[in-house]
Amino acid sequence: MRKKIVAGNWKMHKNATQTAELLNELKTQVSKEDNKEVIVAPTFVNLVLATSLLESTPIQVAAQNMHQAESGAYTGEIAADMLKSVGVNTVILGHSERRAIFHESDALIASKVDTALQHDMTVIFCFGEELKDRQSKNHFNIVENQLKDGLFHLQAKDWEKIVLAYEPVWAIGTGETASPEQAQEMHEFIRETVRKAFGSDIAEDVSILYGGSVKPDNAKEIFSKPDVDGGLIGGAALNAKDFMAIVNAI
Ligand code: PEP
Repeated sequence: MRKKIVAGNWKMHKNATQTAELLNELKTQVSKEDNKEVIVAPTFVNLVLATSLLESTPIQVAAQNMHQAESGAYTGEIAADMLKSVGVNTVILGHSERRAIFHESDALIASKVDTALQHDMTVIFCFGEELKDRQSKNHFNIVENQLKDGLFHLQAKDWEKIVLAYEPVWAIGTGETASPEQAQEMHEFIRETVRKAFGSDIAEDVSILYGGSVKPDNAKEIFSKPDVDGGLIGGAALNAKDFMAIVNAI
């Protein structure tokens, strides 16, 4: 049975003191539940703090990005082995802010996915259309291509380490949410696309998260849809009350 997951992407928010405060609040409130996973993704500099504060709690720690090379002259970058060495086993790749602001292409993201998998890391693979794609009714094509270009070179066994996060760009940080019906329609399409390429077992097992202005007041309805297996949360992951309300909405 596929996992339910709520992951908080903290982006470039929270210094060390603020990170410790929020994690200390969360760790008293998140309890271990079968088949449900809670993940937080603080900034790189606070990952060591996070893994040590969350040791022996059910909360997992993810990085927000990583470089595709093993090591080398890449000033300012972080390698998979460095993340693993501080207890970070999950990485968010392909976030729309990485794609748009840092010009990450599908090919680059695919090579990051490969590196992460070589290090036995779990990948939260983000993808989703822009507003103009939806307005021109091209959103299914865009999503299918991102999925194919990023992940369809993988072997069947690799899918155990893949979590999909459908995040329509027009809904990220805008307060504009896809309706539960729009989310379900796209998630169903994504699962069918995976099914055609990799078969039913993989399609049924892969968790597909929705991301884009999920808040305490809309989470329950979105999560009630059969192909929505949780959420990738930005703004509402930055305070314990809202994040826990979303975690408890699953
Ligand atoms: C995100 O950054 O992945 C995201 C979904 O942000 P928000 O929840 O703020 O829209």
